Amino acid sequence: ACGSANNSSTGSSGGTTASNPSKSGSSSDSGKIALLLPDTTSSARYETQDKPDFTKEVQKLNPKDTVMYENAQGSSTTQQQQAEAAITNGAKVLVIDPVDSQAAAAIVHEANQAGVKVISYDRLITKASVDYYVSFNNEEVGKLQGQFIADHTPKGGTVVMINGAQTDNNALLFAKGAHEVLDPLFKNGTLKLGYETYTPNWDPKNGLREMEQALTKLNNKVDSVLSANDGLAGSIIQALNAQHLAGKVPVTGQDATDAGLHNILQGTQSMTVYKAVPEEAKVAAQLAVDLVSGKTPGSDIVNGQTDNGSGKNIPSVLLKPVVVNKNNIQDTVIKDGFTTMEKIKNPS
Ligand code: BGC
Repeated sequence: ACGSANNSSTGSSGGTTASNPSKSGSSSDSGKIALLLPDTTSSARYETQDKPDFTKEVQKLNPKDTVMYENAQGSSTTQQQQAEAAITNGAKVLVIDPVDSQAAAAIVHEANQAGVKVISYDRLITKASVDYYVSFNNEEVGKLQGQFIADHTPKGGTVVMINGAQTDNNALLFAKGAHEVLDPLFKNGTLKLGYETYTPNWDPKNGLREMEQALTKLNNKVDSVLSANDGLAGSIIQALNAQHLAGKVPVTGQDATDAGLHNILQGTQSMTVYKAVPEEAKVAAQLAVDLVSGKTPGSDIVNGQTDNGSGKNIPSVLLKPVVVNKNNIQDTVIKDGFTTMEKIKNPS
């Protein structure tokens, strides 16, 4: 992010004190950044990757900046309170992974009024004027999952889709991408859509109940399961296992969690979509560190625009998801240092 021009005019109380010469023109040389993550149960990523990766990168880029971390534990109300507290306590930038993509617009309105910048992190906040959006190509995630199901379900087979939380804009994009690939096959009879549901809060407990319902409804005639992430895949495998079907039915996933990769090695999960969260966290940290010092982050990292329904295109950084299966674990997640074989063999 270095070399980015300072052409912003912050209305904040950043002050006019002399700043770090390497950050010429910045209104302040350090500040407070709030990182607001959604929960700790839907995916291992938040505690094991996003939080430490983001904090480490901010510390590296500017040791004088402070990261205020909060986790909403799945409640959008809690998240709003945490955001308000962060603003009150002097945060100049909010990095929000919203529990609820629509509800979080209220947070953005409050931040806008307080002159606080907002980075929509991983999940898009819709219909609100956020400053940046950092994520992956989420429709592509769904396409990769859908393509896997298309390639691994026997002709005429029945597909179950467990899509994750409808309140998460990402889940809508995952489902959209998957349907783009699968709908033509459902239409021409190559495959059947036996059961499809969203999963409140991405909660694995809800995923378990949903998969049990699908199996009951379909009399166990299930030929593949599109699971939106690894957390749900764990529950789906548990439900399949109770019917002696685990390992016989392809199951997709996402996040390349140690538990998911473990199941891939065991043969009960078939693939996962690996998203380089350390990279995502790094990009968000770069933007946040620039914004907190009053700089307009350079166009060197922004690689797109996203229409979030606010009437303004949101400058975005969208990274590329990668399919991981038994055969390329070594060349992807291990090679990148995302995890280790040790951790995959003994997931916590
Ligand atoms: C994230 C996924 C995650 C899911 C549940 C989505 O918004 O992109 O990586 O598995 O939420 O936490």
